[in-house]
Amino acid sequence: MDSAHYLAITLKHLRHEKGMSLAQAAERTGVSKAMLGQIERHESSPTVATLWKIATGFNVPFSRFIAPASPLIKPRYNPPSQDMQVEPLFPFDAELRFDHFSIKLAPGALSESSAHDTGVVEHVVVISGVLDLKIDDQWQTLQPGEGRRFAGDKAHSYRNRQLEEVHFHSLIHYPVPEL
Ligand code: MN
Repeated sequence: MDSAHYLAITLKHLRHEKGMSLAQAAERTGVSKAMLGQIERHESSPTVATLWKIATGFNVPFSRFIAPASPLIKPRYNPPSQDMQVEPLFPFDAELRFDHFSIKLAPGALSESSAHDTGVVEHVVVISGVLDLKIDDQWQTLQPGEGRRFAGDKAHSYRNRQLEEVHFHSLIHYPVPEL
């Protein structure tokens, strides 16, 4: 099963579990009903930014949509454009409540993220290459070894203006869900 197929099945399952129609899911996520339908039918793969909107709308960690490791599959989310590849380094742990991703952004790529769930905190550390990060509407340039911690519940963007890929880690802390 490829990553888009796993995503299709997971999305359909989550939506049914929550008893939501496609229209209700569109309202919750801010992703169009048409697009959600295409993803569920395995006709389209969303960008990382769109997948984040879906995860936020469903109150699940982003990694929920990435197939767990198996002998045949390395867990990774590859959008069709290949602009931004996201690979979980550890499976999500419900008690520790963080996702830790290895992310690669292609030369020239821009990924604009809408706000994640309230209280989500993101920690970005550059491994190699140079990353531009927009936090609070200001671009900052991070060199290898440099990092930033910021509120993920506000809009933020990642950009690679270099000719080489940028590789960074992102540790995302999710707040304890309200009961
Ligand atoms: Mn983010």
